[in-house]
Amino acid sequence: MIARNLIPLSIVFTIMTTNCSSNKDAGATHIAGSREFGKTPSGEIVELYTLKNAKGVEADISTYGGVVVSLKVPDRAGALGDIVLGFDDFNGYLKPPPYFGAIVGRYGNRIAHARFTLDGVEYKLAKNDGDNTLHGGTRGFDKVLWKAKPGSGQSLELTYPSKDGEEGYPGNLSVTVGYTLTDNNELKIDYAATTDKDTVLNLTNHSYFNLAGQGEGDILAHQLTLNADRYTPVDKGLIPTGELRNVAGTPFDFRQPHAIGERIGSNDEQIALGGGYDHNFILNRTGDGLSLAAKVTEAKSGRVLEVLTTEPAIQFYTGNFLDGTITGKGGKIYGRRSALCLETQHYPDSPNHPSFPSTELKPGAVYHTTTVFRFSTGS
Ligand code: BGC
Repeated sequence: MIARNLIPLSIVFTIMTTNCSSNKDAGATHIAGSREFGKTPSGEIVELYTLKNAKGVEADISTYGGVVVSLKVPDRAGALGDIVLGFDDFNGYLKPPPYFGAIVGRYGNRIAHARFTLDGVEYKLAKNDGDNTLHGGTRGFDKVLWKAKPGSGQSLELTYPSKDGEEGYPGNLSVTVGYTLTDNNELKIDYAATTDKDTVLNLTNHSYFNLAGQGEGDILAHQLTLNADRYTPVDKGLIPTGELRNVAGTPFDFRQPHAIGERIGSNDEQIALGGGYDHNFILNRTGDGLSLAAKVTEAKSGRVLEVLTTEPAIQFYTGNFLDGTITGKGGKIYGRRSALCLETQHYPDSPNHPSFPSTELKPGAVYHTTTVFRFSTGS
């Protein structure tokens, strides 16, 4: 949701980081350290920051792409396991991207024919997904170096100034992404941005989760609940047709928990187009605050992930394009559907669909969205 207030960005960010739910335990969660992760092809140093909470949960965040490189959370016996896909070696992130763990922008997801019109001007973008643009273009926010500084003792603040015209998008954009690891075992992500010219914006995070542990088989037995009565069906380029379709009676109905694999092989045109689930679900929301979007449980480990967001929608992607050609952390091979993504967002291709919630950001307004990945264990 785009907040249209006029508070300076620095003040917004202070409010965001001090309002986090770990505030009552302030000081327990901390930045445990940072180290050099690697160097970009142009020789810039990439750092890896480690956030740690009072319960030992750890998140490693890279300044390249703002990538969540690892996220270690307990299973029901208390054993920590890394539940996100990624690479041990920084160079893994320089290869053609599955966007493991990255901040995605300026526009997460697809824009049809890689173009949109704003204020009567047509803007042309990179065609990096057939005829469409995907996840910000050729060099999106997943491939830039962010500037890091500790924010209020409990979070890591990443900033990136995106220039007018970058990847074809208008406006000098000032972006801040805050990662906070709370003592309630939540990874909270706050996105804020301002522009000096009308533009469009849709920021998200592209973590690939496997609650059994990264590289531990596929996610088909994970149980998923999605708080969504409707989704946006797509065409063969995975662009929304404009229809908002009810999930009732379809394999897209996750309003009650279902194993992800239960209906993924069903004879459904939309499942076939996505090669599985790769669709935008419209969240049932009341108000503008954080609300529960999704819940995932994994029986063997007992791990539970809840996703809360201020965003109107979520892309549920079952790693259909992973094909076993990527070797990730600890030498694990990432096969088809070895992880799932829950990308909180506005609808794909919104700039070309006036009926969808607007993704426009104007000078003087502040873009501010929050998403929380909350981890616990169940029986
Ligand atoms: C998209 C997929 C895409 C994946 C990796 C997801 O957000 O919906 O279609 O393959 O990102 O690029």
